[in-house]
Amino acid sequence: MAAANLLDFDLDGLGTFFELLGEKRFRAAQLSRWIHQRGVSDFAAMSDLAKSARARLLDVAAVQPLQLVSERESADGTIKWLFDVGGGNAIETVFIPEDDRATLCVSSQAGCAVGCRFCSTGHQGFSRNLGAGEIVAQLWHAEHALRKRRGSGERVISNVVMMGMGEPLQNYSALLPALRVMLSDHAYGLSRRRVTVSTSGVVPMIDRLRGDCPVALAVSLHAPNDALRDELVPLNRKYPIADLLASCRRYLEAAPRDFITFEYCMLDGVNDSQAQAHELLALLHHAPSTRIPSKVNLIPFNPFPQSGLLCSSRERVLAFAEVLRDAGIVTTVRKTRGDDIAAACGQLAGEVQDRTRARERLARRTVAIHAAGSGRSEIERPGLVSGSGERT
Ligand code: SAH
Ligand code: SF4
Repeated sequence: MAAANLLDFDLDGLGTFFELLGEKRFRAAQLSRWIHQRGVSDFAAMSDLAKSARARLLDVAAVQPLQLVSERESADGTIKWLFDVGGGNAIETVFIPEDDRATLCVSSQAGCAVGCRFCSTGHQGFSRNLGAGEIVAQLWHAEHALRKRRGSGERVISNVVMMGMGEPLQNYSALLPALRVMLSDHAYGLSRRRVTVSTSGVVPMIDRLRGDCPVALAVSLHAPNDALRDELVPLNRKYPIADLLASCRRYLEAAPRDFITFEYCMLDGVNDSQAQAHELLALLHHAPSTRIPSKVNLIPFNPFPQSGLLCSSRERVLAFAEVLRDAGIVTTVRKTRGDDIAAACGQLAGEVQDRTRARERLARRTVAIHAAGSGRSEIERPGLVSGSGERT
């Protein structure tokens, strides 16, 4: 029988596992602290657990880390780890240090089935969901590798964003225990406000998350109307904007923050016109049926070769932001981090054995987007904008 991976369990699961071994349930908290707070995987070193318990664990369990393929560090201090998750798949995890926080961007799937037009992961297609242990192992590795590097036992990572590869709400059964480990006082002890789930809009799962584990929510909107969003984020055909915003309003009843963050990737000539800024404003701010307390995070598009898209010019991004700010919506322009090592938003590609023929489908959709967008045909310039802002 394969050993159970203890990284798969939240505290409750660890307690049940301990009980099955004939141990006291409450001892699971000690085990959790050894694993997550001290980064120990060797049961023999867990000195406050009974010898008999340690021997039993050795027989039936393991703390199974991910297999590290490479680590790359950007000039700006961003670090990207590539992990082999078997079957020809690899996933990426990114550490982003800032003055007032240190954020880990975590992957939830090998690939992604949503297939957003502007996303490198989406272009790769979908291979499989990660297990809870594989999600947690990214944080476990990053936190303890960074502590070792710094020669200190102090906590390094202050925030987690589920913004790596994959759609977290399409892997809910693994996401939930992983979030609980992040929040547990016997593990990483992060506050709900500092753990963000980013979603392209899986409406029923937004409702589930609200009931089960309401952490901060970021919604990838990217378009002010259904016609354009249908093209950019294909999931919109199933869960259109009005339904999505209604679920966001319900989420706010339980959310740790009193607004929803909307992410909007700035695509040259596609979704970045003044008219579209006003349309977004009407949607989020004025229309009684869809109005919602919002923060908008404009993400300069990070180009990758197959996308066929360009980033909006800096002027256009700022003009778009101004329309929203003038109406009182807090609007940030996300700083691009780690682009020299392809660790910026939407550039995470890992290695995915596609089982969905995503590449062909996405190639066919290019034309439709330009037709559904503003129709502006001139191209201002490719490249990245960096301005003041934050990751979420
Ligand atoms: N699947 C989830 C989380 C992962 S993507 C989601 O879509 O929200 C994290 C964020 O990066 C999303 O807001 C996504 O729209 C954005 N993104 C994807 N590709 C991008 C790119 N090429 N440039 C900039 N942002 C991108
Ligand atoms: Fe998937 Fe998010 Fe990329 Fe869309 S943006 S393809 S939902 S990872």
